[in-house]
Amino acid sequence: MNSQICENLAQVRKNIEEACRSVNRDPSEVELVAVSKTKPVSMLQEAYDAGQRAFGENKVQEILEKQPVLPVDIKWHMIGHLQRNKVRQVIDKACLIHSVDSMRLAACIEEEAARKGLVVPVLLEVNVAEEDTKYGFHTAELFSVVDEILRFSHLELRGLMTIAPFVANPEQNRGIFRQLKKISIDIAEKNNNNNIMETLSMGMTGDYQVAIQEGATIVRVGTGIFGEREYHI
Ligand SMILES: *Cc1c(COP(=O)(O)O)cnc(C)c1O
Repeated sequence: MNSQICENLAQVRKNIEEACRSVNRDPSEVELVAVSKTKPVSMLQEAYDAGQRAFGENKVQEILEKQPVLPVDIKWHMIGHLQRNKVRQVIDKACLIHSVDSMRLAACIEEEAARKGLVVPVLLEVNVAEEDTKYGFHTAELFSVVDEILRFSHLELRGLMTIAPFVANPEQNRGIFRQLKKISIDIAEKNNNNNIMETLSMGMTGDYQVAIQEGATIVRVGTGIFGEREYHI
């Protein structure tokens, strides 16, 4: 058991390197976030011992429970839908909120960050495939959303995130990833600012290699490191 997580991590890192090499990207451009939602701290500790430092959770409660009992140099990524009444608890604990999916949420983070004297790094979640079941901005509204977000002085816009559809063949999601990359370039150009779009969080266990080939700078891998989850969220 001990070595399984270690082995999985090594395999995922190798796959990341290969995907980078296949498109002449430097592997240091791609950060692996180990998605540890629903998994016990013992498993996170194993991944930590194997060198992993970035972990992703989709519930504020889990970050609050796990953070105090694990090493302090872990970087926690908030990747799940964030309720406004939980913002206060998480903004000083997550290094990056991937899932800003509405202007109301953005405004709430701005307000709480101002109150705490913080500047909070965020990504805008984009529902590229326009699935009814998914959170996120639609691509058509993104330019005006970015304009509004840039007026908030306590949010630091770093880029975009998407959760691609669940598909049998990762190639089916290539177009989605390519679209997100293109939008990020268009936004950076329009605002004459590359920094606001330096991060593209896309790709999960089933499709991270394809996402990397299309420009991902963060991949979020759960099952591929920790195994299947007991329940699916
Ligand atoms: C659960 C989750 C992941 C990881 O999914 P796997 O298929 O287990 O790799 C990635 N991103 C988000 C937003 C998630 O909720």
